[in-house]
Amino acid sequence: MHVCVYSTQPYDRRFLDGANAAGHHQLRYLESRLDATTVVTAAGAEAVCVFVNDRVDTEVLSRLADLGVRLVALRCAGFNNVDLATAERLGISVARVPEYSPHAIAEHTVALMLTLNRKIHRAYARVREGNFALEGLLGFDLHGRTVGVVGTGKIGACVVAIMRGFGCTVLAFDPHPDPACLAAGARYVALPELLAGSDIVTLHCPLTPQTRHLVDAPAIAKMRPGAMLINTSRGGVIDTPAVIQALKSGQLGSLGLDVYEEEGDLFFRDLSAQVIRDDVFARLQTFPNVVVTAHQAFFTADALSAIAATTLHNVSTFETSGRPAHPVTVDRLVS
Ligand code: NAD
Repeated sequence: MHVCVYSTQPYDRRFLDGANAAGHHQLRYLESRLDATTVVTAAGAEAVCVFVNDRVDTEVLSRLADLGVRLVALRCAGFNNVDLATAERLGISVARVPEYSPHAIAEHTVALMLTLNRKIHRAYARVREGNFALEGLLGFDLHGRTVGVVGTGKIGACVVAIMRGFGCTVLAFDPHPDPACLAAGARYVALPELLAGSDIVTLHCPLTPQTRHLVDAPAIAKMRPGAMLINTSRGGVIDTPAVIQALKSGQLGSLGLDVYEEEGDLFFRDLSAQVIRDDVFARLQTFPNVVVTAHQAFFTADALSAIAATTLHNVSTFETSGRPAHPVTVDRLVS
């Protein structure tokens, strides 16, 4: 199939070319994001391949349908950026990579926890400047602390297992409890109880209308004073201005983010010579107890290989059977 691949970086091309070594599909790589201003570039393609910040909304889908595109292949797990109802109405199939390496994201989540707790980001800078003082770098033992895991799907379940290995008590919240997490020792509780009882709260639910701003001012007020919040799911799950207020008051002790609600205008590009115009993001950067990574939790060689293989498998199965191996349908929005 002729596939127009948006938002590509050199590493995307390397791994997709590797998975397409036999040259079965014709992949046309574009650096630009897919949105209403770029959709015309899909002309001639039967499928488009998109990533987390491409905007596959009603207008884009209508124009893709006019161009004859029949498949949107997401090369990620989340699908909050696709208007599934419109895709279904227009007869455009949507596919995703439901699982590539939940370990990659879970391990990055724990890296953020350890960095914030032991202040590795600050220690690194100090030691390089010849400052070997420890004042200000005090952490706490994770062993014996309580971690609250919101969403115990594939990634959350890995986080549960890792944190149990650290000797933590694990509270979990998920509308669909996982027996494996229970067996690992997690205790499912209601969200307010999780928030009130956790030293660290980590988010692993998808972004849906129900989870948008799940962590807002009232939720933060329920948390233990000085607790740590980690978000490697989607930026919209937290209300960033509310989180900033809580960092200023000290109600929130530290914050680790791999995702940000307005990341589409920032992430995956080198903007080091430019002025950051997003004041909310700029304010986040001023806190010593905030660590932001630019949506890199998935970024391991293992994960990129699996993403490329599953994406091309989705395209191939759609080509032969009219249905991708891993479809996303509108009923997922209500599940
Ligand atoms: P998954 O579908 O396996 O698990 C999601 C879990 O969230 C499910 O168990 C579901 O029941 C639960 N859930 C749904 N609504 C909820 C709610 N209101 N409260 C609590 N739990 C709820 O997905 P996954 O593979 O574990 O991925 C989770 C999310 O992580 C994805 O949706 C994606 O947004 C994000 N993600 C981020 C990166 C990254 O690089 N930062 C990479 C992959 C995925």
